[in-house]
Amino acid sequence: MRIDELYVIIKLVERCNLNCSYCYYYTQENAEVFSRASLMSDQTLDDIIGYVHAAATKEPIRQVIFGFHGGEPTLAKAPRVRAFCENARRRLESITKIFFVMQTNGVHVSDEWLQLMEDERMGVGISIDGTQQTHDRYRVDHKGNGSYERVCQTLRKLLPIEQAGHIRLTALAVMGADFTGLDFYRHLVDELGIRHLKILFPDRTSDMEPPQKELEQLGEMLCEIFDYWLLHDRDRVSIVFFESVIRGLILARRKRGNGDGVVLGLAVLSDGRIRVQDDYMITSQWFWSQRELFVNQSELRDYLGQPHLQQIVHQTTHEPAACASCAYAKSCAGGEVAHRYKRVDGFDHRSIYCAALFKLYQHVENRLALGESELARQNIPRPFPVHATS
Ligand code: SF4
Repeated sequence: MRIDELYVIIKLVERCNLNCSYCYYYTQENAEVFSRASLMSDQTLDDIIGYVHAAATKEPIRQVIFGFHGGEPTLAKAPRVRAFCENARRRLESITKIFFVMQTNGVHVSDEWLQLMEDERMGVGISIDGTQQTHDRYRVDHKGNGSYERVCQTLRKLLPIEQAGHIRLTALAVMGADFTGLDFYRHLVDELGIRHLKILFPDRTSDMEPPQKELEQLGEMLCEIFDYWLLHDRDRVSIVFFESVIRGLILARRKRGNGDGVVLGLAVLSDGRIRVQDDYMITSQWFWSQRELFVNQSELRDYLGQPHLQQIVHQTTHEPAACASCAYAKSCAGGEVAHRYKRVDGFDHRSIYCAALFKLYQHVENRLALGESELARQNIPRPFPVHATS
């Protein structure tokens, strides 16, 4: 298997300074998290570099992305993370390309962390759930206080660093029950100044089907945002989701890496345990039945050889049989793999968000098909060139 990109999620701190009402991590099912060390040790951080070094020496890996994650990674001291970055560059840069990204709730990012992000040219993801009212309803601290104001303070520090071209700042927002479509989009872009946006469907498997009406509304809201973005913002705002839809329609395939290589992810927990990414936690039994591996006692080939990984790779590179007759079988290809899962027989299903996805693909295809004169008549700019995605 040729690996185009290996995404190593580092659970640097397995505790959080927020207590979001919808958090998937601090649940009864994952209660074992509290038996693990809250902070990853320097030894485990070193083991991660050794693990990647051994893998990339045996089989070429085009690029490795280290993602600092949690919990909340900024609860770790920045100098320890800086030492990891320097060590990783020193040991790995001669055999593969490496990048650093991080995901923060933005509640408190110290000056040392800001400097580290800037020095390492990190990709920085910050979670914002829309307006203050929506955000504060769900993203609360352990005393029940909303976190919106504190996140905005962090944004005010990060945006100038992004404008100077030293980090790539992406707002991550979940299209939850209070998703307001265009109002939500305009708040993030026009009022908060976000220029890179990742909008995500809520974590759901095919066993948790929302009402059809809800899916249709979601599809309509996405089409509305797409048109607004196309008319007003496509030169200044990058939306990963829309760009992948356009790319999928043009190339008739979803981007899964360069050429025939695969994009793979793995998460390393604070005690060095290796697991498939958190996206799959919603599959419950399937997720919890994966093999127990540790970063200091195994190799990447052990991880790749386990049935769970084989299933993910197969599903990532093949559209589900249930999508075969769909006009967007090649471009949408069943949506996100975790959203296809059914407890009874696994992943070979349409996305739980199929109705919304179909509506959006159809809408974008119509926009792409409009001739030059019709686009001009309707005052719609051509949807090219698209921005590069990370
Ligand atoms: S739109 Fe639905 S049926 Fe078509 S490829 Fe996507 S998930 Fe499958």
